[in-house]
Amino acid sequence: MTDITIVGAGIIGMMVAREYTDLGASVTLIDKNLAGHEASWAGGGMLFPINPEQQPEAVMRLFFESMTFFPKLIQQLYEVTEIDPEWLMSGLLILQSDDVQLLSTWCQQNGVITSQPPTELLSKLGCQPKEPLWLPEIYQVRNPRLLRALKYFLTLRNVTFMENCTLTGVKVKRQRIDKLETTSGLLPVNHLVLATGAWSGDNYQKIFPDKAYPRYMGMDVFPVKGQMIVVKGPQGYLDSIILQDGQYMIPRKDGRIIVGSTVESMVFDKSITTEVRENLTDFMYRLLPDLKKCVVEHQWSGLRPGTISGIPFIGCHQEYENLSFNCGHFRNGLSTSLASAKLLVDLIEKRSPTVDPSPYELNKSNFH
Ligand SMILES: Cc1cc2nc3c(=O)[nH]c(=O)nc-3n(C[C@H](O)[C@H](O)[C@H](O)COP(=O)(O)OP(=O)(O)OC[C@H]3O[C@@H](n4cnc5c(N)ncnc54)[C@H](O)[C@@H]3O)c2cc1C
Repeated sequence: MTDITIVGAGIIGMMVAREYTDLGASVTLIDKNLAGHEASWAGGGMLFPINPEQQPEAVMRLFFESMTFFPKLIQQLYEVTEIDPEWLMSGLLILQSDDVQLLSTWCQQNGVITSQPPTELLSKLGCQPKEPLWLPEIYQVRNPRLLRALKYFLTLRNVTFMENCTLTGVKVKRQRIDKLETTSGLLPVNHLVLATGAWSGDNYQKIFPDKAYPRYMGMDVFPVKGQMIVVKGPQGYLDSIILQDGQYMIPRKDGRIIVGSTVESMVFDKSITTEVRENLTDFMYRLLPDLKKCVVEHQWSGLRPGTISGIPFIGCHQEYENLSFNCGHFRNGLSTSLASAKLLVDLIEKRSPTVDPSPYELNKSNFH
């Protein structure tokens, strides 16, 4: 039997799978869709939380630890798969933030380098920012390529992918998940990891349908839609990320620029609107008037897994000994994925975690 079954093959599920293959475990990844085609694909790939000074410390801890693991991962993926995830130190120009002084102090206290913004970059702007902040050592990754590389890497390590297979429920026997009910039939399970992103609140309810508790109280993970556009800019025109009031432009190596994003609703709706497309293009044209002739190639949306506290749930279930979870990474799932995966595997395998696990626990008082 598979040692570990992970439901949800987004960045989080795949990173957990990678940790387990390092241990020589037999791993099955199940996804209702194709692997890596939901939020993890839709995201921008910026490896730095927006407004870090306002983020819970528990999120920033995962971020900083993940960043120490990224270089080795990228090198390993490239060597094994020859797919380049385009891990780039783009730098981040922040044109406006809620409190520049606070952010600047936060950077100093956390060892995030700031310096004078490059004049060439400032000269391209269609506005004159009052107190721009330049963070030269901020990275990005081209997330669709990272996911493709990870999937190929895991396939080479004999991970079984069951795509287009939806978890619909579980059969429980003596405080253990005994079988998974899926659209591909009943599956045996040794240990189940729930890594189903924005669907985790709903899936948690599917797992425990007969117990009455308020919606999402057990695991309050809910969808938060973000819409994005991509334009094809001239190659080499922009090589730094620009952020203003929560909206950003992320330049890729080939000249494409990702512009995002919105923070919308709490429903499972991925529709896109002309209004948002116009707002995002206006934002881009205002900041970089040279791009006025560039056309929008594509618009899409993704569902971020939001939580009320802003902190993901990572840990082992207190009642069901072979159930654990890793979900609710909201806007930071790519940047915190490596440490989140390692933390969960440390906990399941009863190794001492390098990160204090308590902030990520499911609240016991919410158990039914
Ligand atoms: C527009 C946008 C921009 C973003 N930008 C960034 C950024 O720049 N940097 C950053 O760090 N983060 C960013 N994020 C956030 C990041 O993308 C998410 O936090 C992260 O992708 C969450 O990963 P996940 O694996 O938990 O979720 P997902 O990638 O959504 O994966 C969950 C998977 O579970 C599957 N699933 C759900 N239910 C079931 C079921 N019942 N049975 C089987 N499979 C199921 C889904 O099909 C899906 O593939 C952004 C997100 C969006 C939407």
